[in-house]
Amino acid sequence: MATNVADASNRTGTNWAGNLTYHANAVQVPATREEAQACVRASERLRVLGSCHCFNDIADTTGTHLSLERFRRVVSLDRAVGQVTVEAGIRYSDLAPYLHEHGFALQNLASLPHITIAGACATATHGSGVGLGNLATQVAAMEFIDASGTLVTLSRTNDPDTFPGAVVNLGALGVVTRLTLDIQPDFNVSQHVFLDLPMNALDAHFDEIMSSGYSVSLFTDWRGDTIDQVWIKSVTGAGPDLFGRKAFHGARPATRNVHPAGGDPANCTRQMGVPGSSYDRLPHLPIGAIPAPGGDSQAEYFVAREDAAAAGAALRAFGDRMAPHLMQSEVRVVAADDLWMSPCYGEPRVAFHFSFKPDWPAVKNLLPALEAVLEPFDPIPHWGKLFAMQPGTVKARYKKLDAFRDLLEKHDPTGKFRNSFVNRNVFEAD
Ligand SMILES: Cc1cc2nc3c(=O)[nH]c(=O)nc-3n(C[C@H](O)[C@H](O)[C@H](O)COP(=O)(O)OP(=O)(O)OC[C@H]3O[C@@H](n4cnc5c(N)ncnc54)[C@H](O)[C@@H]3O)c2cc1C
Repeated sequence: MATNVADASNRTGTNWAGNLTYHANAVQVPATREEAQACVRASERLRVLGSCHCFNDIADTTGTHLSLERFRRVVSLDRAVGQVTVEAGIRYSDLAPYLHEHGFALQNLASLPHITIAGACATATHGSGVGLGNLATQVAAMEFIDASGTLVTLSRTNDPDTFPGAVVNLGALGVVTRLTLDIQPDFNVSQHVFLDLPMNALDAHFDEIMSSGYSVSLFTDWRGDTIDQVWIKSVTGAGPDLFGRKAFHGARPATRNVHPAGGDPANCTRQMGVPGSSYDRLPHLPIGAIPAPGGDSQAEYFVAREDAAAAGAALRAFGDRMAPHLMQSEVRVVAADDLWMSPCYGEPRVAFHFSFKPDWPAVKNLLPALEAVLEPFDPIPHWGKLFAMQPGTVKARYKKLDAFRDLLEKHDPTGKFRNSFVNRNVFEAD
């Protein structure tokens, strides 16, 4: 049995941002796979908790919450193949320094490293990079407990017909207990920031600008004639040397470290071209600066990369309406992949991210209008962030939805791992 069962009436806690109270009636914190299997067998309804950084109800349940916070070990490092196997509760902030110490690195990271790898992959969490897929594309194999309590393993090599459906699983396939990730030799990255990029340069040179480094992010409030900040993360010793550049497509170099939303740059990864380990440059937030939740919330939408300029122009026209609620917006690019429930399935996309000030009623009002602005571009919402879109619209944007449903039903015929979010956005007829 689980070694720690924290009972709670109808309130077991909130997500990280604090905008959502979970409805679980119990939290189980197993220490071993056997204990986790027993929890699954004993539960009628169950969802796993990662680090609770999702902004919507994807992790919620009216049944049992299973926390894998005791599953944080590195299981093995295969230097020859270039893969690491980890327990599923481990966070990028645990794994990345470990890999660095052993001469390896992950290909890419999200803006913050304090999230669990299993939670990030379940929702297709991503960073930026023309040649870089979302973080789930790093998964080469996975082990999970299915609804009967049986351990199942799937791998990219051995299960090519089902593995692409299992990685971005919305937490509905089972309890992921182990993940094997592709890794690569350690590399350094330096970060240069340019300020006030003219919007018309973006319209004319979007692909060129987003290809100007290993990973590029744009920060803007969609008002005025410029993009506030361009963050270019370059592999040290590769690509164009940005040192001493007086201008970048009309933008000027920052002369000191900056923060994307005007906060304290001490809470951001180091800039000004100072090289550092990739894990300390690819995220915007360093491991040492754990962000304090401030009640802000996030939404993000993916559109086809060829629509980037047109979608940006539409957002500009919406900038004044959005401004009172917006903390900052970020534009990133993500490469195409073959993961069925990834927003980038079969197509490279541009991701428009929005961080909103802590005023949920206002954000709730704003989201449908924002989605209407992006609607001509068939936006796909981030699985872990807020959206107002009708479930029918979301479902229609996933070509492999039927195959995903079949996969879930195979491993979970009674819907033990489903919740309201999954029922709405995957199963229910509209
Ligand atoms: C400050 C901040 C910055 C962010 N930056 C980015 C960013 O740069 N890019 C981006 O794409 N997103 C970003 N996000 C969104 C967030 O990282 C993702 O949504 C991610 O899913 C959060 O991971 P988590 O471990 O907190 O997952 P949780 O919210 O705990 O869970 C997410 C889902 O995964 C499931 N799950 C978790 N672990 C398991 C498991 N072991 N087995 C089965 N199911 C499991 C849960 O049931 C749930 O359905 C950010 C969020 C915050 C708060």
